[in-house]
Amino acid sequence: MDGSAAPEVRSTCPYCGVGCGVLLRPDGAGGLTVRGDPDHPANRGRLCSKGSALGETVGLERRLLAPLIGGQTADWETALQLVADGFNQAIDQHGPDSVAFYVSGQLLTEDYYIANKLMKGFIGSANIDTNSRLCMASTVAGHRRAFGTDTVPGTYDDIEEADLVVLVGSNLAWCHPVLYQRLLAARKARGTRIVVIDPRRTASCDGADLHLALEPGSDVALFNRLFAEIYEAGAIDAAFLLNTEGFDDTLRQAWCNGVEATGLSPEEVAEFCRLWICTEKVVTIFSQGVNQSTSGTDKVNAIINCHLATGRIGRPGMGPFSVTGQPNAMGGREVGGLANMLACHLELENPDHRAAVRGFWDAPAMPEAAGLKAVDMFRAVADGRIKALWIIHTNPAVTLPEADAVREAIARCPFTVVSDVSATTDTARLADVVLPAAAWGEKDGTVTNSDRTISRQRAILPPPGLARPDWAILAEVGQRMGWRRAFDYQTPAEIFREYAALSGVAGRFGRDFDISGLSDIDDTAYAALPPTRWPVTAARSGGRFFGDGRFFHDDGKARLLPVAPRAPAARTEPRYPFRLNTGRVRDQWHTMTRTGLSPRLSAHLAEPFLEIHPEDALRLGLAPADLAELTSPTGRAILRVRITDAVRPGQVFAPMHWTAETAPSARIDALVAAATDPVSGQPESKAAVVAVAPFRAA
Ligand code: SF4
Repeated sequence: MDGSAAPEVRSTCPYCGVGCGVLLRPDGAGGLTVRGDPDHPANRGRLCSKGSALGETVGLERRLLAPLIGGQTADWETALQLVADGFNQAIDQHGPDSVAFYVSGQLLTEDYYIANKLMKGFIGSANIDTNSRLCMASTVAGHRRAFGTDTVPGTYDDIEEADLVVLVGSNLAWCHPVLYQRLLAARKARGTRIVVIDPRRTASCDGADLHLALEPGSDVALFNRLFAEIYEAGAIDAAFLLNTEGFDDTLRQAWCNGVEATGLSPEEVAEFCRLWICTEKVVTIFSQGVNQSTSGTDKVNAIINCHLATGRIGRPGMGPFSVTGQPNAMGGREVGGLANMLACHLELENPDHRAAVRGFWDAPAMPEAAGLKAVDMFRAVADGRIKALWIIHTNPAVTLPEADAVREAIARCPFTVVSDVSATTDTARLADVVLPAAAWGEKDGTVTNSDRTISRQRAILPPPGLARPDWAILAEVGQRMGWRRAFDYQTPAEIFREYAALSGVAGRFGRDFDISGLSDIDDTAYAALPPTRWPVTAARSGGRFFGDGRFFHDDGKARLLPVAPRAPAARTEPRYPFRLNTGRVRDQWHTMTRTGLSPRLSAHLAEPFLEIHPEDALRLGLAPADLAELTSPTGRAILRVRITDAVRPGQVFAPMHWTAETAPSARIDALVAAATDPVSGQPESKAAVVAVAPFRAA
C-alpha cells in the first residue's frame, strides 16, 4: 500500500547526542521515508548518513517477537512473574544490594525514570548504572566539581557564533556529523578557526587550521600550559574571577607542569595558546578522547579552568561544551540513571535531597550511599555479590572493558534478564529471560540532546509481535514486586508529568535542572511537545547558564581545580609495545544492532580493521589487507590491516562496533583493561597496550 498520503510524524533520530529532528512517513513497503526536520533547532533539516538510513532499519530482521525463558518462547504473564519473583527472592535472601540494573542511553527519559524509581526508591539499592558511564561520566564529574551541578553551559548556537572552535578528543565529523556540518557552514560564513587536539589524524582534521597530535592522555598538561599562558598574557578576567574559588592553587599547579609529555613541539603549543588567548569567542568541544581516560575528570576540569579564568562561559559563542555520544545520555543524567545520583540532579548522598525524593515518591526505602558503577557492577557479578541482574538495551558482553571476563560473569550470574529488540546480541544469548522491547519508531517518550533540548520520540509503527515499551515492562515488574500504586502508569505522558513535578522539588534546592513548568502538561500538549531546552519554569525557559556568574555550589561560586597530569594506567612495555586507541566509524552505531541492517551503511567500512603506521607495518612484515593478531594482558583479536600515517608510530587504532555475532575475532574491548577514573568511574578505553604480529592460522 502506498504510504505517501499518510501525514508525516515528527520524531528524533535514535543515534548520537546531537538529537536531530526527523520527519517520518510509512513508505508502503514496511519501511519509512525519513527526512530532516527543518524546524528542529538541532539540525534545521540536515541529517547524516546514519539518520538518512533510518528507514532501512525498521524491518523484522533479528527482532525478538515474544519473551524467551531459557531460550523457549513464553507468554508475558509467565515471564514478568518470573522476573519479579527472581528479583524478590534475591532481595529476600541477600538484601537489596544483591540485585542490579545495567541500563542504557538508548532508553527514553520516561523508561529511565521508572527504572531509577524502582531501584532507588522501592528496591532500596543504588545499583543502577548505565552504559553512559562508558561515554560521559567524566564530564558529569567535572561539571559537578566546577559548577556544583552537571550543567552544560552553552547551546549549539554557540558553535556557530564562535570565532575559534577547539575539538578535544572529538572526531566530530564522524561521531556528531550534523554538528560538524553546522561548524563547517559557520566557518564558510564567518571564517571560524578550527583546532583539533587528537593523537590520531581523523576526518575532523580535514577542515582544521591546526591539528595537535598530542600523546594519548596528555591533555591536562596542554591545558595547564594554556592556563599559565593566559595568566602571563594578562588575559584573566579579574571581574569574573570573583565568581570563582581556587585560582591561586590552579595557577601554581599549571606553572609547575611542563609540556614534554604532550609530545608536541614548543611552536605547536605556542600557536595553540596564541590562538586561544587572542580569540575571545572560543568554544572548546570535548568528547570520548577526554572522557574515556583514567584522568578524564581532571581533563574536563583543566579545560573548564581556562574558560572560567577568562570569563568565556555562558555567553554567545563561548564555553566548554561536552558532546554526548548517545541519544539520551543527557536524559539519563537528568533522571539520576547513574549509581551516584538522584533524579533531577539531586545528590544521593545529601540527606535533605534523599528525604525530598523519598517523600515525593512515598518510597519505602532509599539507599544512603552510591551504588556500583558499571565496571564495579560487573566485578560484583563476577564475584557472586550480584544475584539478579537486569540489562536493558545494551550489550556489555561486547562493550565493557575486559569483555571476555564480563561475558563469563554474566553467564555465571544466577539470574539474568535482558530487555532488547533482539535476542541474538552477545549479551542476550547469555540471559535466563529475554524480554521483547519496542524499538525506535514504535514507542513514545522524550530524549534530551547535548544542548539540553528535550525532544519527543514518537511512534509511527506498531510494536511487532508481543513487543512492549520499556516503561510498561518496568512498571509491570514493579507492580508484581509489590508496589502496585507506585507503578500504576497508563501512558508515558503520566510519567513525564510526575518527573516534571519532581524537578520542581529539585528547584527548591537551587538545582539547575527544573522543568516544573511542564508538570501540568496535558496529554494533547505532551503529544505535540515541540523541542524545548531546559530549564522550563514559570520564570525562565531555555538559554545559557553561568553568563551571570552564578553557579550551583552553596556559595554560588564556581571552582577552579588544580589538576596534575597523569599518564594512562596501562604502560607500554616490551611485551605490549603499542598503544591501542579504540573508537567509532562514520556509518555504524554501537554494536550495529540497527545500523548493521542497512547495506548502504555497511558498505562504508565493511569489516573491522586495524590502523597502523607504515614504519611499524614494515618492521612487522605487515602488508595492506593482511591479518594482524593483537594480544593484550586481557584478550586477543584478529583484524585486517590498514596502513596509514593517520596514526603515529607506536600507536594503533581499531573500531569497537563488531561483536561475536558479526566478527567473532574482533571484539576490541576484550583487549582493554578495566582501569577507571578514580572520580568518575569511567574506563580508559583509548589507551590500552597491545602486541601486534602477523596472524598465522594454526
Ligand atoms: Fe542522527 Fe546524530 Fe546523524 Fe543527527 S548527527 S542524524 S542525531 S546520527
